[in-house]
Amino acid sequence: MGMTGRLREHGAPAWVYRGYLTVVMTATVVLPFALGGVGHVPARGTDLVTGLVLVAVSVLNLELGRIAEGGVAGSQRPHKALSAWAFAAALLLPTWWLLPVVAVTYAHAWWRGLRVPILKWIGSGAYLVLCGLAAAATSTAIAGREMDLLNDAGAPGLIVVVASGAAFLAVETVLFHASAYLNRPESEVWLRQTLSSASFYLTEAAVLSMGGLSALLWIEAPWALVLLIPVFALTQRAALHEPLRERAEHDDKTGLLRFEAWRRLVALESDRRLRQHEAWGLLFVDIDHFKLFNDRWGHLVGDEALIGVARCIEKESGADAIVGRFGGEEFCVFVAGTERGVAEAGERIRVAVSRIEEPGTEGLTVSVGLAVVRPGQQVELHTVLEQADRALYAAKQGGRNATSLSLVGETA
Ligand code: GH3
Ligand code: MG
Ligand code: MG
Repeated sequence: MGMTGRLREHGAPAWVYRGYLTVVMTATVVLPFALGGVGHVPARGTDLVTGLVLVAVSVLNLELGRIAEGGVAGSQRPHKALSAWAFAAALLLPTWWLLPVVAVTYAHAWWRGLRVPILKWIGSGAYLVLCGLAAAATSTAIAGREMDLLNDAGAPGLIVVVASGAAFLAVETVLFHASAYLNRPESEVWLRQTLSSASFYLTEAAVLSMGGLSALLWIEAPWALVLLIPVFALTQRAALHEPLRERAEHDDKTGLLRFEAWRRLVALESDRRLRQHEAWGLLFVDIDHFKLFNDRWGHLVGDEALIGVARCIEKESGADAIVGRFGGEEFCVFVAGTERGVAEAGERIRVAVSRIEEPGTEGLTVSVGLAVVRPGQQVELHTVLEQADRALYAAKQGGRNATSLSLVGETA
């Protein structure tokens, strides 16, 4: 296994990760002062006024975000748009100003309910300072220290902002990836997932645009910043879109896909199997006598058993399977494979559930109906579901704790 494969699975040795953090923290504290020739002479007002305005805009933006999400403090809500103000500070102020601007905006976000482990929070603030330094170095290199983004430079002013934003985003990507893959994987599940989705980079680019725009307005038409307030509010709403969609597609109780989302995915996947001339199948899993189970143990224990069965199905269906909650105590599973593979998956699930050893779940069993589609066989998803449902009925009739398989008949 290559170096990256190993990092994905285990992270780096602890001392490497600690060393990395030490270097980052040292650079964060030293570099903003040490890079004498980098950063800008304020184009408007004093440094202090500019710094305060950036903090005020950040506070306003974050409060708008709280209103957008209904005042609920999410533990790791993806976007507080804090990079916007680090970026604006990099464009407007001498570099050491990055430290107070990032520190105060981060402290405010913490105070207003963003609960991530404090060391991670400090670490990510440090990253933003370093990203800001990269942006300041880039803009100084192109335009000099006394740049006038709008007037003197004209269109090149735009190039300065875009190039600095790109430098910011590039350094951010490198630092966060290093963090995610040097640390132990179980500590960075959220970060690894976030970094692997394209929407992170898109949102971050939008956030940096907001910072760049705010900086330009502050220089040329400070009162026009007011016009950005509704834009901030909408952006905060937009950042909620992804997590809400996630929630809409998944069942709260079991975390499995809801039926509609499951059906959409399975329709795509079965089309793909048809094109590649591969066999596939559906499983309908239904808990046996679950009504009696609830009557006996109560619905709360019933819920725990239901979740246990859901985990069992996920585990035994295999990595490529698509598992959904059809509704109630019924689950639907898509598996790729021939008659034999699908039958084996059903049997694995049946046996595994009967062996769950949580207190109270003795004797909990499932019946499984299977329908198999042969390679190249063109058939409606609806038909396969019906067939699996009929097979489930047969398994129930046969005495439960059983699997029953049917081959989907040829249709046009
Ligand atoms: P069978 O073996 O024929 O499937 O019997 P059954 O009792 O499992 O089937 P029936 O359809 O009569 O009852 C299903 C039961 O599943 C009734 C309902 O209380 C229970 N159930 C459905 N959804 C949930 C849930 O989310 N939590 C709990 N605790 N029970 C649920
Ligand atoms: Mg049922
Ligand atoms: Mg049942």
